[in-house]
Amino acid sequence: MRIIIVGGGIAGMSTYLHLRKHLPSHSEHDITIYESHRPRSIVSSSRSQAHPNQSVNLNALSESTAIVGGGLGISPNGMRVLRDLSLGLHDRVVAQGFPAEHFIFKGANGWSLGMQSTSDKAVRAKDDAEEVCIASSRHGLWTTLRQYIVEEYGEEAIKHKKVLKLVRRLDLPTLRLQVYMLDEQGRKQVDNADLVIGADGVKSVVRNALFGDDEKFQPIYSGQSGVGGFHNTTIPPIIADNRAMVFEFGGSGFFGYSSGGPISEKQLMWWSTFETSTLHNIKAVDPRDIRHALSERHKHWKDPIIEDIVSNADVESIYPTWIMPELPHWGKRGVVLIGDAAHALDPTTGQGASQALEDSQVFSLLLAELLDRECYGQAPDRFTIDKAIKVFYEIRHPRVKTISDRGKKLAGRKANVGIVKEYFMYCFIWLLIKFPSIGKALLSDVNRELYCWSSKESIREALRNDRIDDGINEQSRLIG
Ligand SMILES: Cc1cc2nc3c(=O)[nH]c(=O)nc-3n(C[C@H](O)[C@H](O)[C@H](O)COP(=O)(O)OP(=O)(O)OC[C@H]3O[C@@H](n4cnc5c(N)ncnc54)[C@H](O)[C@@H]3O)c2cc1C
Repeated sequence: MRIIIVGGGIAGMSTYLHLRKHLPSHSEHDITIYESHRPRSIVSSSRSQAHPNQSVNLNALSESTAIVGGGLGISPNGMRVLRDLSLGLHDRVVAQGFPAEHFIFKGANGWSLGMQSTSDKAVRAKDDAEEVCIASSRHGLWTTLRQYIVEEYGEEAIKHKKVLKLVRRLDLPTLRLQVYMLDEQGRKQVDNADLVIGADGVKSVVRNALFGDDEKFQPIYSGQSGVGGFHNTTIPPIIADNRAMVFEFGGSGFFGYSSGGPISEKQLMWWSTFETSTLHNIKAVDPRDIRHALSERHKHWKDPIIEDIVSNADVESIYPTWIMPELPHWGKRGVVLIGDAAHALDPTTGQGASQALEDSQVFSLLLAELLDRECYGQAPDRFTIDKAIKVFYEIRHPRVKTISDRGKKLAGRKANVGIVKEYFMYCFIWLLIKFPSIGKALLSDVNRELYCWSSKESIREALRNDRIDDGINEQSRLIG
């Protein structure tokens, strides 16, 4: 089977590795990732020298994980997918990041609102290895995955080409998809595939091939953008001593900070939000203006760490937050969407990367399982592929929707509010942390729901419920 993955971000690279690990060896599989961007050579510690005049092109800063700075937290459920994939890779991701065992919540007025463990130990089986949230530079996670692919499967696995469009050939039984792209010299090329996986992020070309230009399936800019960067300084004790990520809320917005790597690397990672009503404004804006806006917004906040970051750190990434409409399906006839291409989540969920990792695991295991089952051994690959795409959506869509809906509810907490609402917010956060049972009653047992979900169990159940599975051998090589 010939598989093309469009996009070598977190979803695309993880899918590549899962497919390589799980696809049955009784037939040959040829898998290529097409990625439009080369990795930037600059790493975080030298960031301020990278654009000393600060007149960087924000278009470039917001385009691709390959070059976008900023950071993220990989939740225990995402880390577990990496552990399942390869313990070596999991440990490398941990080693390049910062294991944030706690989230600390603060108010802009200086109040300490509480501390929460990020561990999944309380909700997992006794024998399961413990996972905590790993704070990482976006680029660090991306580079670790990329290096692992190159070491295991060679440079050829990832080709640097920008995919332009997909065409479906109805006259061919195999290799029915044609992928048109531009190479780095700007030459047009075409490649053929049985399966195209659209892991090309929120502005997906593959999604356009499935849904056309229909406005109702296009992402909408939320009016808020994530901004952030890294400040080269000693990691403050609140982070180092508590092994914590700090989230601070105030009447005029939100600010977060953590270590973005091992403490010794002195990468104080920070993130906040920046509001502009249109994307056009974002592209025109100078990072110095963002810094100025941040220092105005946070000037009355009683946290010297934020004061230091805002006065001294460069804004290195701006990442528009998109509202993705719910799609009626995530693919058909040999084309499937995963990760942000299918469902960009609000950053408030902290689940974008982790859900992309779960997608990659579920789709790969499912495809491998279906290919492996006897009845599909005889069936043309294309039936199996289309079956996998359909069941994939049935498994993943309800989970992602629950997370997305909760994110939308919480998203408003980062916006500007008046003094009464501000103090109400402090009390509310304090109550939720002090009395977790209130949180569970209001928001459900979020940790259990996020960290106890099992890809294999969900696949098993979906196949059990599925008509096509009737009479098929229950015992499986892959999902137990
Ligand atoms: C402000 C902000 C904060 C966030 N914080 C968190 C967090 O704390 N925790 C978390 O888990 N998630 C977080 N996320 C979300 C997370 O970054 C994404 O969900 C995750 O990166 C999705 O991965 P992906 O591979 O689907 O998409 P992407 O990372 O966008 O990768 C898509 C890839 O496809 C490539 N590409 C695009 N078009 C083409 C084309 N035509 N041809 C070839 N290649 C192409 C791009 O260059 C890119 O490399 C945050 C997001 C934002 C915006």
